[in-house]
Amino acid sequence: MATQTVSMDQIVSLSRRRGFVFPSSEIYGGLGSTYDYGHYGVLLKNNIKARWFEAMILERDDIVALDSAVILHPRVWEASGHVEGFTDPLVDCRTCKLRFRADKLEDSQCGRKPSKHPGEFSECDLTEPRQFNLMFETTVGPVKDSGSRAYLRPETAQGIFINFKNVLQLARRRPPFGIAQIGKSFRNEITPGNFLFRVREFEQMEMEYFVPPAEAERWYRYWIDERVNWYLRYGLRRSRLRVREHGPEERSHYSQGTSDIEYLYPIGWSELEGVANRGDFDLTRHTEYSTTKLEYVGPDGERYVPYVIEPAVSLERIIVAMLVDAYDEEIVGERERTVLRLHPQVAPVTAAILPLIAKDEGMVGKARSLYEELRRRHSVEYDDNGAIGRRYRRQDEIGTPWAFTIDEQTLADDTVTVRDRDSLAQERLPLGGVRAWLDDALEREWRTPKGD
Ligand code: ATP
Repeated sequence: MATQTVSMDQIVSLSRRRGFVFPSSEIYGGLGSTYDYGHYGVLLKNNIKARWFEAMILERDDIVALDSAVILHPRVWEASGHVEGFTDPLVDCRTCKLRFRADKLEDSQCGRKPSKHPGEFSECDLTEPRQFNLMFETTVGPVKDSGSRAYLRPETAQGIFINFKNVLQLARRRPPFGIAQIGKSFRNEITPGNFLFRVREFEQMEMEYFVPPAEAERWYRYWIDERVNWYLRYGLRRSRLRVREHGPEERSHYSQGTSDIEYLYPIGWSELEGVANRGDFDLTRHTEYSTTKLEYVGPDGERYVPYVIEPAVSLERIIVAMLVDAYDEEIVGERERTVLRLHPQVAPVTAAILPLIAKDEGMVGKARSLYEELRRRHSVEYDDNGAIGRRYRRQDEIGTPWAFTIDEQTLADDTVTVRDRDSLAQERLPLGGVRAWLDDALEREWRTPKGD
């Protein structure tokens, strides 16, 4: 299959057209780089979260779930180093009044035409870089003073560290064990953009894996492999994924080792997920700031502060990668179709139920009862609106892997056709066997027909 290059504009336009993602607050003129998820976007997001949750928690014995608060005690962010150091270098342009990240000027556009990078146009007048803290501040309680200052969390990880003792005691865990959570994080990014790739409000999926210090390097490598394999399992092409290890100068203050799992986005190779060996930095700092000892004490008295391995990603970056990877435009039977070749366990709708003729009561009756039967277990859609070809194309565009069509033959012998989104092959099945067929089909290993 020919591999096409997909632009971010094609992805934005499909997301909009089919109601996956809308620019937020549009009726008020929009709020730059803020998005709302529509029906199919929510279904897609829920499926990705569910696949992550399965791989991280349900299929393992060593990781438990957590859902911590968004607003934590402000001292948490002092201990973590965010108040002091969660900054990006910011420069202002006195001419065009735009702001840029000083370390990403080559990715930014100057505000003047002809558009160049900031600093390259003769009239550019950039200030010296100054550090800008990315945390959103808010106040807690009715009185606004410095004592009421709090922050929206810029990562979910700290909510995990401050619950280390609870989990250790109540879930009776010993290293190696992990705590995983999914939740919103907020960063006042200086230059958000590239659709969902860099936004100010995003949903993170993070897991902190606590290990004996001597085993940290091994587990760090293990989690890089696990996470790359998860992306392959859910259909991303191997050739579009790579692991890039940070040099010592690039690592965060807490890191003993960091690797980015990068995807070849339309903007070039960029970080999809980060895997870091955070050492004992976080537990040590929270012990210091809270005076609560965060350490592991074994049954025979051994005690140590575990090291932490962290795979961290946002749903937003996975969504963009999956949409880009899945998107194809092709000509089928002299008509153009846009198709999302999403993994069946990720696709927003698993199957469409289509009566061939919407006015035929017999077909409609059988189609509706199949729909009622399947919807109890699966995300399915009933559609009797328009010509059958158009209905297929609507489903292709949202990535529905299978469509069951109820036609004249169904009335005669109770069989239906199942149409495969990718191969377009059609097969006849007994109506009573559809549910079992669908259960099996979803369990089958799936590889994208686009190759490696
Ligand atoms: P970048 O260098 O791209 O700003 P980062 O290294 O600061 O990212 P981390 O702090 O490691 O990112 O965050 C963990 C993960 O959270 C990232 O790998 C990415 O998937 C996601 N993420 C971080 N910032 C954003 C954002 N502004 N919008 C969407 N996802 C984000």
